[in-house]
Amino acid sequence: MTTKMNESISKKSSAGVSRRSFLAGVGALGALGVLGGLSGCAPQNTQEEADDAAESYDAVIVGTGGAGLSAAIAAYDKGLTNIVVLEKMSAYGGNTNFSSSGMNASETMFQADQNIEDSNDLFAQETLDGGHNTGDPELVAFMCDNSAGAIEWLDDLGITLDNITLTGGMSVHRCHRPTDGSAVGLTLVPGLVAAINNRNIPIRMDCEATELVKDGDAVTGIVVKENNKTKTLNARAVILATGGMGANQEMVTKYRPDLAGYVTTNQPGATGDGYTMAENVGAELIQMDQIQIHPTVEQETSTLVAEGVRGGGAILVNADGNRFFDEMSTRDKVSAAELEQPGSFAWCVFDQQVYDNNKAIAKYDSAGIVKQASDIASLAEAIEVDPAALQSTVAAYNAITTDGATDEFGRTEGCIAFADGNMYAIKVAPGIHHAMGGIRINVKNEALDENGNPIPGLYAAGEVTGGIHGNNRIGGNAVCDIEVFGKNVGEVVAEALS
Ligand code: ADP
Repeated sequence: MTTKMNESISKKSSAGVSRRSFLAGVGALGALGVLGGLSGCAPQNTQEEADDAAESYDAVIVGTGGAGLSAAIAAYDKGLTNIVVLEKMSAYGGNTNFSSSGMNASETMFQADQNIEDSNDLFAQETLDGGHNTGDPELVAFMCDNSAGAIEWLDDLGITLDNITLTGGMSVHRCHRPTDGSAVGLTLVPGLVAAINNRNIPIRMDCEATELVKDGDAVTGIVVKENNKTKTLNARAVILATGGMGANQEMVTKYRPDLAGYVTTNQPGATGDGYTMAENVGAELIQMDQIQIHPTVEQETSTLVAEGVRGGGAILVNADGNRFFDEMSTRDKVSAAELEQPGSFAWCVFDQQVYDNNKAIAKYDSAGIVKQASDIASLAEAIEVDPAALQSTVAAYNAITTDGATDEFGRTEGCIAFADGNMYAIKVAPGIHHAMGGIRINVKNEALDENGNPIPGLYAAGEVTGGIHGNNRIGGNAVCDIEVFGKNVGEVVAEALS
């Protein structure tokens, strides 16, 4: 049962931007023709057909985020065509729609084109370091070693991520974004849905998976709720790609009571169903208390201000107009530093160059969360901080670039002096962002029980799994995770069933 406080937060979350921006995203996807029912994918079974006939598939994939869609495409391309994808919401894409930073990947063809030196080992090391060595080294190595392949695979599907930037905790430009620098999710999801439609892979929208079916040790199907009726889909393999639990306050606070009262960046369907279903058939859940809070979430609307904004030069200042931390440090540390500031918030401040170089900012602006002024002093007035303090903060920050000064907070990445002219600010504080723990898997995406043995017939990929990020996820690593392991699970299942 939720506490009163949680109820009020839940209301805020569901009435707030998380939901609104999901619906806005739905609108955008609808315009692109990727909404369920508009997609032109294979016709769904009618209720009558479904109720009368036993439905049997080689693989049922649950969830239409990046992991689920990629799994379906990869499985199909390896010859597994009797498959279906389920989505409980009325729109595709889950939280993947809101992925903003990009996809981290190393040794890619685009890095080579741009003379960026990188290595899979360095990527893996920085991922493990970012997670304070609590991630699973084998899963991390697998992700990094296969990241360049996933970038090429996406490119072959028409999803080109060749605009490369930096995210906190990484020393190399390896965060791959769409060519125009826009938020990755709104290119990724329509691109994957187009690939699904080209292959006529059926997706059943408004179809909620509720329970896995077991025969002996093996998973043999899944129970779904569709059109207010319950039915069982038989499957030789079930792939859970149901994402995280950020929109389920009760579950979040079960694992992390200290997060009661936080807003969430997650879409309303991120309710942790996959954890429950998997646990009920004996899968082990690991690191479930590792729930990432993101340091730059606008609180009234739950809008996530992408890390690329800081990577492009923005700074964080407190209510006194002072910087207080290395903005490019890892999310856990930046969030903790913010919570220590007066009022437990920060202003994300940037100039016109940052605004112009990061397409997502225009979206934040149209949502009404960006304060604008013609210079630093007027911006200070607009956000009610001391103008002299903000001016000297910006002067000291500029000196890192212009005079080679050493930053007192140790920032070395993404320091770009502010140009004169328009200045902007967004008020931010931490928000619940990503479930880093989850179903324990191996590099074949097999769901494992507490003895480390695979549960026959059950696979998982994406945010619903645990072990990759450890106790801190690096920005840009979720998209790498869902793409590498989404593609992988499709291929593994196709091979296992061939
Ligand atoms: P990932 O990034 O791991 O792909 P996402 O959050 O992007 O995860 O996508 C997960 C998708 O799974 C969402 O669209 C969500 O609505 C869907 N989903 C979650 N639970 C269920 C369920 N029980 N049945 C069907 N779909 C589900």
